[in-house]
Amino acid sequence: AISAELIESIRTIPNYPKEGVLFRDITTLLSNPRAFRRAVDALVQPWAGSKIEQVAGIEARGFILGGAVAHQLSAGFLPVRKKGKLPFKTLQQDYQLEYGMDTIEIHCDAVKQGEKVIVVDDLIATGGTAEAAVKLLRSAGADVVAACFIVDLPELQGRAKLEALDIPVRTLVEFP
Ligand code: IMP
Repeated sequence: AISAELIESIRTIPNYPKEGVLFRDITTLLSNPRAFRRAVDALVQPWAGSKIEQVAGIEARGFILGGAVAHQLSAGFLPVRKKGKLPFKTLQQDYQLEYGMDTIEIHCDAVKQGEKVIVVDDLIATGGTAEAAVKLLRSAGADVVAACFIVDLPELQGRAKLEALDIPVRTLVEFP
């Protein structure tokens, strides 16, 4: 099955970035040609042939997947970046971290009114980052159609956060 192959291609690193965390490292999936293709194909499958205009990739691993997804869907790509990285005028959205706040940005002209956008990242944990991305894209006039991730950590209930905003969520594998 596809999910067994994908799960096996993801490396787990204990105590990174801090004690007690099990970090799911997708670089080993990306370096596996078969797993990378399967993951991208599976992520886009529900939207094949539906007119997605832009793919919004969340810094930084969402850029790698988002670029491949955008190519597959013949869509554009737009980067959702940490504060201070984008060169032109930006729109910002603050969001809560475990400790403190952070800010993400997009260029003010990254989407046109009503454009159909999907959000892509490697992993959804609490959903805070993706929720902020959805709010930011909506504030710019986007029609956010869905959010997709390779990995879901269901215990942290990020999916519910996006579904509360009426965003369908696609994930490929779960780690308990
Ligand atoms: P959330 O905002 O709590 O859903 O955290 C998701 C963000 O943190 C994403 O941008 C992920 O790339 C990153 N992240 C959190 N935990 C992990 C992990 O175990 N592996 C890879 N990325 C992670």
